[in-house]
Amino acid sequence: MNAPTLVESQTPQLNLTGDFPILSRPVKGRRLVYLDNGATTQKPAAVIQAECQYYEQSNANIHRGVHFLSQHATDLYEQGRESVRRLLNAARDEEIVFTRGTTESINLVAYSWGWANLKEGNEILVTGMEHHSNIVPWQLLCERTGARLRVVPVTDSGELDMDEYRALLNSRTRLVGIVHVSNALGTINPVQEMTRMAHEAGALVLVDGAQAVAHTVVDVQAIDCDFYVFSAHKLYGPTGMGALYARYDVLKDMPPWQGGGDMIHTVSFERSTYADVPQRFEAGTPNIAGVVGLDAAIRYVQGVGLEAIASYEDHLLQLATEQLLELPGIRLIGTAAAKAGILSFVVDGIHPHDLGTILDTDGVAIRAGHHCAMPLMTRFGIPGTARASLALYNTEEDVLALVAALRKAQKLFGTGREA
Ligand code: PLP
Repeated sequence: MNAPTLVESQTPQLNLTGDFPILSRPVKGRRLVYLDNGATTQKPAAVIQAECQYYEQSNANIHRGVHFLSQHATDLYEQGRESVRRLLNAARDEEIVFTRGTTESINLVAYSWGWANLKEGNEILVTGMEHHSNIVPWQLLCERTGARLRVVPVTDSGELDMDEYRALLNSRTRLVGIVHVSNALGTINPVQEMTRMAHEAGALVLVDGAQAVAHTVVDVQAIDCDFYVFSAHKLYGPTGMGALYARYDVLKDMPPWQGGGDMIHTVSFERSTYADVPQRFEAGTPNIAGVVGLDAAIRYVQGVGLEAIASYEDHLLQLATEQLLELPGIRLIGTAAAKAGILSFVVDGIHPHDLGTILDTDGVAIRAGHHCAMPLMTRFGIPGTARASLALYNTEEDVLALVAALRKAQKLFGTGREA
């Protein structure tokens, strides 16, 4: 085995572990090596403190109050919207709707836009590497409207078959759903090119950015997509919080999907009229503290710089890929040319769940299973993979700890080669 070079002169460096309080707690008596960032990221002190300070200093309900705290909380909430707008480079604040996360954002589009616009004979096109949350809402919609769900196939290396994509697009296609970065493969999809092709066919495009926003610069105007969705908790922010970007021209004509307070102009027993966007889609008291936390998370990553994060994580990905391929009997699932910091793999003779459990005894947290992408696992003929997913606080030492723990597991199962 080649010894890894720990520090090279051109190696991008980030040293942010100290910003994340949880990373200093031991797990099972060992240093925590947290490599389950695709599932959720840890939170920097800045985010934890922002939420805490909100409850200590600013808590009130928003939009309807005339008193100081209500107006202050409203300002913080709307400042969070502006922060998301800047993160995604959306053209206007009204294009940002706060939701519970990626899943709710997609359901919002399916129930509001989908119900209003789909009918029998229409088609929705998704890719073979979507997370269940970008499959099931469309299936439900198809069941109810008679529309048809079609699927862009995935190649052996874990890329989309672009010839098939071109062939599947047609005048019946009303919407294309594409994951920006696959949570199960790490593939970065060519969303800009795919959006252009979809628009030429007359379809709208929804991009699932759950795994993208924390790892790369996102510009919805450059991508030119109609919808972009993400979750705060994968961006170093709180759980139960997320956002939908929707192009203003599309959003303004979408009907409400949930009714209640804050989303109306007037209500009578005969008829209600609805607020303008984005309030039309934010019924009830929202997760105000969550917006404050998300705002702090966005400021945190922007302070580090998304270009710097992308280049640092790419360096870790290259190192981890080289190191994993040194191990005997290991197969990487997802070897696309354009990849983000996700390593999905299977190891001969060891079930991914067993691998996850053994690594945990060394304080190494990875994920094992189908990663909510069962059709993709079926495509590769496997029940699941072990997945290590990187974040800005991971280090070369974390990568080496993963490899050492994998060696140990192989030794335990008698499947490895003595080094
Ligand atoms: N899409 C992708 C690509 C994901 O990785 C995930 C979560 O793992 C989701 C959607 C769903 O996100 P959430 O559970 O935060 O709604």
